[in-house]
Amino acid sequence: MSFSLELSADVVQVRDWVHEFAADVIRPAAEEWDEREETPWPILQEAAKVGLYSMEFFAAQTAEETGLGMPVAVEELFWGDAGISMSIMGTGLAAASLAANGTMEQLGEWLPQMYGDINEPKLAAFCSSEPGAGSDVSSIITRARYDEATDEWVLGGTKTWASNGGIANVHIVVASVYPELGSRGQASFIIPPGTKGFSQGQKFKKHGIRASHTAEVVLDDVRLPGRLIVGGREKFEERIARTREGKSSAGQVAMKTFERTRPTVGAMALGVSRAAYEYALGYAQEREQFGRKIGDFQAVAFKLADMKARVDAARLLVWRAGWMARNNMPFENAEGSMAKLVASETAVYVTDEAIQILGGNGYTRDYPVERWHRDAKIFTIFEGTSEIQRLVMSRAITGLPLK
Ligand SMILES: Cc1cc2nc3c(=O)[nH]c(=O)nc-3n(C[C@H](O)[C@H](O)[C@H](O)COP(=O)(O)OP(=O)(O)OC[C@H]3O[C@@H](n4cnc5c(N)ncnc54)[C@H](O)[C@@H]3O)c2cc1C
Repeated sequence: MSFSLELSADVVQVRDWVHEFAADVIRPAAEEWDEREETPWPILQEAAKVGLYSMEFFAAQTAEETGLGMPVAVEELFWGDAGISMSIMGTGLAAASLAANGTMEQLGEWLPQMYGDINEPKLAAFCSSEPGAGSDVSSIITRARYDEATDEWVLGGTKTWASNGGIANVHIVVASVYPELGSRGQASFIIPPGTKGFSQGQKFKKHGIRASHTAEVVLDDVRLPGRLIVGGREKFEERIARTREGKSSAGQVAMKTFERTRPTVGAMALGVSRAAYEYALGYAQEREQFGRKIGDFQAVAFKLADMKARVDAARLLVWRAGWMARNNMPFENAEGSMAKLVASETAVYVTDEAIQILGGNGYTRDYPVERWHRDAKIFTIFEGTSEIQRLVMSRAITGLPLK
């Protein structure tokens, strides 16, 4: 399908519906849950009741034919609030990982358990990062060993920074099976609820997106049935054999997940940027100093012009990446990373300028731009820092193995 900026009637309908939920339910609750620093279960329940928190909803946006369904819906959600919306979207990272690498049986069994149902929403968590392995995914030391005698996997290690870690119903954990092969020797594993030896460690107190739970998870001699390796053991061993023969071009497990989710992270950042831009614009049109609206000072109006231009430019990159992904076009110039990089740095820039435009008010918790400023920063860190996005892009552009 050719790229069009004209949204289809279906996408417009979803956009307006999500916007209404974001405006009526999420935004009014944002300050409270930011202060509480807890998962906003009542909001998740409301979202589940109306069909906004469900596997079907996110699958429909992903499958939407123009590729703009997901970015448009996500921008609206995050326009409401980033912390609450991370609680709504956090499951998506684990779900995307399973969708990218899992067997049909695994998808059928575990995706419904990740989201729960309209009466009882549940969460999932994707656990790749470790205290010693953040950007460098190849240095993961959580080990998974296959026990032939019992047809079980035995896992041990500590994962950190996991969104929904420890409170999720299902966890997807990346572990190293053949450490000598680096990231190519890794696989991911499904941790069912109530698994013995699996527990939550430290819960982090954060700078922003405080309504999203982030914690360590500990795997202490966790034993899993053999079938819980994502993608199946046979396929994994085949891939390992090809790798050893130097034939495998299969990507790394965690990287495959991030490639699919990066444009969506760009859309999250866009929602925060647009919220801050709109608020600053409204403020500049009302606030008077020296007998004039502050928006009448060129110094302020030019800020608004730059903010608007950068938000729109970021959106074009996010939409292009969404459209390319939907049309199975390879990201030859790392277009997914490009969209995430520009949209996340735009969010930091726009929220910073919004505080400046609000002056002292912008610096207080009485106005939401202070929260948006704290929330924006995460987008330059998780799912690959800005430096890592630049590294991925540089490699794609130059064809050189940059370090
Ligand atoms: C709120 C939050 C939620 C998260 N959710 C999840 C989750 O659900 N699941 C999960 O697995 N992880 C999650 N993460 C982890 C996140 O993906 C990592 O924090 C991120 O990948 C960076 O890793 P690090 O923190 O170890 O930083 P490091 O990798 O230690 O990086 C530190 C600095 O060095 C720079 N750097 C590192 N390597 C290079 C290089 N080669 N070239 C240039 N600069 C470099 C980085 O860009 C950064 O500026 C989350 C993190 C946070 C804060």
